[in-house]
Amino acid sequence: VSERADRLVEQLADAELDALLVTDLVNVRYLTGFTGSNGLVLIDSGTRAFATDFRYVEQAAEEVDGSFERVPASLDLLEAVAELLPSAQPVRLGFDGAHMSFRDHARLKELLGDRAELVDGAGLVERLRLVKDDGEVGKIAAAAAIADEAFEEVLGEGLAGRTERELALALELAMRRRGATRPSFDIIVAGGPHGALPHARPRDVAVQPGELVVFDWGAVLDGYHSDCTRTVAVGEPGEAARDVYGIVREAQLAGLAAVRAGGDGRAVDSVARDIIAAAGHGERFGHGLGHGVGLDIHEAPRLSQRSSDVLVAGSVVTVEPGIYVQNEFGVRIEDLVVVGDDGCRVLTGIDKSLRIVD
Ligand code: ZN
Ligand code: ZN
Repeated sequence: VSERADRLVEQLADAELDALLVTDLVNVRYLTGFTGSNGLVLIDSGTRAFATDFRYVEQAAEEVDGSFERVPASLDLLEAVAELLPSAQPVRLGFDGAHMSFRDHARLKELLGDRAELVDGAGLVERLRLVKDDGEVGKIAAAAAIADEAFEEVLGEGLAGRTERELALALELAMRRRGATRPSFDIIVAGGPHGALPHARPRDVAVQPGELVVFDWGAVLDGYHSDCTRTVAVGEPGEAARDVYGIVREAQLAGLAAVRAGGDGRAVDSVARDIIAAAGHGERFGHGLGHGVGLDIHEAPRLSQRSSDVLVAGSVVTVEPGIYVQNEFGVRIEDLVVVGDDGCRVLTGIDKSLRIVD
């Protein structure tokens, strides 16, 4: 963990910052290892300080990387920033612009006065998080393996007659029993026409023979997320459902084949999107092809028409095309992959041919 702070310090000069204040807890965890709910980091070329309040002093002693000076502070942690900041001359102080509240920003300004100029840190820590080290990839792969096994357990017990909520709960329990801290997000189980909503919430409605059911789920392990979607047929599916499944699968495989370092997020999205559009379903794929996954379930880079990201080796991304046929059914297939120099390595282990379950 400690080399992450080193790399951050190297970037301060390029960003024309004297110091960086990190308040987003995911970023704080990435830099220090701290998992509590109140902590901040102040970094400059000479300082590596971590501040937390009395509730977390013991936890911080166990978790926080030894390269950081641990500073006990009041509940209002921003007061500690004023004490930690060098006072000889005013500094350009970067902050987590995407995460700091308007109120905290005003408070910080008031506390620091003319000792610091506050500058949006423009995602410096997020940029480091883009490239996962082997340990991080290992945790994401382990989370994905838990999710895979849990899914097989739930499918093995049959689907017809179980409600979406029961199935979502069964998946969650199966993941927790295998060591997951929690699901990565609210699990989606959506049968029949409900599957046409990309972010459907599980209902107290039983899935029926003849329906497609969309499952989108993941596990959190050691803070790292996994993300997977499979669409399963309950009993024999209709012709239209089979057709659409085949198109989404083809688009998903083509998207996977396009993922490699140097590829750009927009072009990879297009590879899958063009296949779906050519089959006449362009209007029915309304979201991006994929997103980065790590300490957050949605992080950089993005695979979408609005992305300007260029893929780098070591990023972990999803590839998840879908076709949503309103009032009828939806199909989405999502794998989690590690970007490599010549392609990608798929972390999801579940087969993608159309599965028919009773
Ligand atoms: Zn997902
Ligand atoms: Zn996803």
